[in-house]
Amino acid sequence: MMTVVLLANDATLLGPLREAFTRQAPELRVVLADDPAAIHAQVAACWYPPANSMARLPNLQLVHSVAAGVDHLNSDPSRPDVPACRVVDPDHRQGMTEYVRWAVLHFHRDFDRVTAQQRQNVWQRHPQRPAGQYKVGVMGLGSLGAAIASDLAGAGYAVRGWARSPRQLPGVACHHGESQFNAFLDGLDMLINLLPLTDATRGVLCASTFASLALGAVIVNGGRGQHVLVDDLEQALTSGQLRGAVLDVFETEPLPVDDRLWQMPGVIITPHMASAASHDCIARQVAENARRLANGESLNNLVDPTLGY
Ligand code: NDP
Repeated sequence: MMTVVLLANDATLLGPLREAFTRQAPELRVVLADDPAAIHAQVAACWYPPANSMARLPNLQLVHSVAAGVDHLNSDPSRPDVPACRVVDPDHRQGMTEYVRWAVLHFHRDFDRVTAQQRQNVWQRHPQRPAGQYKVGVMGLGSLGAAIASDLAGAGYAVRGWARSPRQLPGVACHHGESQFNAFLDGLDMLINLLPLTDATRGVLCASTFASLALGAVIVNGGRGQHVLVDDLEQALTSGQLRGAVLDVFETEPLPVDDRLWQMPGVIITPHMASAASHDCIARQVAENARRLANGESLNNLVDPTLGY
C-alpha cells in the first residue's frame, strides 16, 4: 500500500487536505507526521514542510508540492534527493486570471485615482485610454502566465511576455532570456510577475527593472515575495517611477502586522489569495502520481532539479 504523509507549516491545511484524500483516493494510506505509520511513507505532500520533518522518513521516493510553486519545499533542509512534482490545476489559472484582470482594470481605468478622490469629495474625470495603448508585460509564460497573457491580449491590451525559452502565443509579443529582458520591459505601463522563485529570478523586481518601465508604471506580484526588493520598491513609489504595486505574496506570510508594506503609499496588499488549487484537485493529482510511482510510470508535472521549477 502507498503511504502519503502530509507535511505543512499551516496546521489548518492538514485536516481539509486529509479529508480530500479520503474522498478522492481511499486506496491510499494518508497520515500526519506524528503518526508512527509515517515512517513507511513513499510520498510526502508538502506546503512549507517543517525543518527536518523529512529526516524521519527513510522511504520517501517522491516529494510533492500541494501548490503550483515548489520553492517552499526547501523549507526542510533534510529534503532528500528524490523527484519533486507540483500541482497544475486549470482552476488555478481561472483564479489568477480573475485576480490579474481586476488589477489591470483598477489601474488602466484609474479606479485607484477616483477612489482616492472620493475620500476628498473630488469629482474629476481622467482621460480614457484605449486598452490597445496600455502596455502590459507578463513575466513567466508557464501554466499561469501564458493563460494570463492570452486573456489580456483577448481583452485588447498591448501584451508582451517573457520566459526563459522561446514561446509563441497569439496576440502576445513574446521575449525570452536575459538578452531580451530590456526590450520586454521597455516602457511597460504594467508589469505582472508570474515567475517561479529560483536563484535566477530572486530579486527580479528591483530598481533597474522599475527604471525600464514607463514613468508611473504599476507592478503586480503574483509570484513570490522574494522576487521584490522592498527598499527599491519604496524608492520607486516615492519618486513616482511607480504609481502602484499590487502584492499578493510576501517573504514572510502572513505579512507581520508591523511590516512597513502595509502602510506604503501606492501598495495594495492581498493575503496570498490570487489563486489556490482545490483540496480535491491536490488529492487527485498527488494520488495519480503515487499510482504512477508504484507502477514505475513517468510522473506528472515533474520539477526540473537543475532549473528549480
Ligand atoms: P510554470 O513552471 O508553469 O512557469 C514558469 C514560467 O516562468 C515559464 O514560462 C518559465 O520559462 C519562466 N521562467 C522560469 N525561470 C525563468 C527565468 N530565469 N527567466 C525567464 N523566465 C523564466 O509555473 P506556473 O505558471 O504554474 O506558476 C508560476 C508561479 O506562480 C509559481 O511558481 C508560484 O510561485 C506562483 N503562484 C502564485 C499563486 C498565488 O496565489 N499568488 C498561485 C499559484 C502560483 P519557460 O517557459 O522557458 O520554462
